[in-house]
Amino acid sequence: MTFAIAPDAPAPDLDEWSGPFWAGLAERRIVIQVCPVCTRRRFPRMPACPYCGTAGGDDVEVPGTGTVYSFVRAHRALTPASGTIVPYAVATVDLDGGARMFGRVMPTEDCAIGVRVEPAFVDHPASDVASAWTELCFTISG
Ligand SMILES: [Zn+2]
Repeated sequence: MTFAIAPDAPAPDLDEWSGPFWAGLAERRIVIQVCPVCTRRRFPRMPACPYCGTAGGDDVEVPGTGTVYSFVRAHRALTPASGTIVPYAVATVDLDGGARMFGRVMPTEDCAIGVRVEPAFVDHPASDVASAWTELCFTISG
């Protein structure tokens, strides 16, 4: 199963909070944070726990399997960059063990609330190696 790539899709703008997530994706790992006090998982990375207020958090690697909470299916290109990838589905995925994140889902026509998904790592090559990046997508399991 191959995800289409928009050739001029913008690369993510990394900072101290998002950097570990994007670096993990390049290594085929999904890195999210867990609170050292209440143990709840969260995404995106942030300076303090949104549930109990504890400063900091520990990075943990998770399998990336989960369930589609909700989704949208786009049939028209919203930007010139997305013209080569329509139709596509973008879902909110509840990861097993906690945390929620977004990603494209294939097969597009089978995306539905409640379906099980597993991660797919989609490389966006660039002529400048520093500009290459990896997108987290999901495929429907089974
Ligand atoms: Zn907490």
